[in-house]
Amino acid sequence: DAKDAGRNTMRFYNPVMQTKVNHQSQMEAALRRALEGDNLQLHLQPQFDEGHKVFAMEALLRWQDPDMGWVSPADFIPVAESSGQIVPLGEWVMQKACQLLAGWQHHAAMKELILAVNISARQFYHPHFVEHIQSCIAHTGIDPHYLELEITESLLIDDLENTINKMNLLRGMGIRFSLDDFGTGYASLGYLKRLPLSSLKIDQTFVRDLLSDPNDEAIVSTIVALGKSLELKVIAEGVETLEQEERLKALKCQAFQGYYFGRPAPAEHWLETL
Ligand code: C2E
Ligand code: MG
Ligand code: MG
Ligand code: MG
Repeated sequence: DAKDAGRNTMRFYNPVMQTKVNHQSQMEAALRRALEGDNLQLHLQPQFDEGHKVFAMEALLRWQDPDMGWVSPADFIPVAESSGQIVPLGEWVMQKACQLLAGWQHHAAMKELILAVNISARQFYHPHFVEHIQSCIAHTGIDPHYLELEITESLLIDDLENTINKMNLLRGMGIRFSLDDFGTGYASLGYLKRLPLSSLKIDQTFVRDLLSDPNDEAIVSTIVALGKSLELKVIAEGVETLEQEERLKALKCQAFQGYYFGRPAPAEHWLETL
């Protein structure tokens, strides 16, 4: 009846929903400008081994919009994934990453460093993904053995055969893979041994409460044991304190990334620091 129709109409104009839609399309338009302009940057966060030596850097995208200011990847990556803009954004990231690697590979102190790049599922499945990486490698002349792709378990949900084939193709070019945010997704343990992975990254949610939550401690030691039996490096993400590092070491974790070791910063910062 009219009352119900009225209610439905009200629901249609729900201001919260409207705000979300506006936010999404505003963000998409701003991202389009960012891709055309000069507002994107890569920051790098180091990964450390047991002896506090840096062995890798993770590239993290940073975006400063003229109107919105700094926008967090946690906010714009999901928008870019749903709009498809993650493909050109990801290509921008890959080009920059390969340029950085090319610079490092001419630099005595940096040439053994791995550069890790985050890859969304939608990028990975794009038909030109492999081709684009090949052309970045060719243009910059980098040794692809130092390029690592961070993927998440979400990639493994559908079409596993296709995923494994594509990963093997890239691995055959020398490229490494790590499984990011490990422990939060749905990867079955059976899949893991079929993937050409080099490392597992323990999700930061398990590190955060490690000192107070025995469940997290159990999860961390399980992941470490799993990594050991599959011969993968295990990296703890989100390490913020010395106490967390010590506990992680006691649990036999051998690699670390987090604010305690170093915050994400522009490449030039690390060039001076290392
Ligand atoms: P991620 O790949 O798991 O990256 C780690 C995130 O944790 C980064 O957030 C990093 O700044 C943050 N982090 C590092 N150490 C600590 C710590 O000790 N404590 C806490 N609380 N946080 C820490 P960021 O840079 O905001 O990126 C968020 C997510 O956005 C990334 O998670 C990744 O999934 C995605 N992302 C970032 N850059 C890119 C990109 O170039 N391409 C794609 N596809 N995704 C990206
Ligand atoms: Mg990552
Ligand atoms: Mg992560
Ligand atoms: Mg993440």
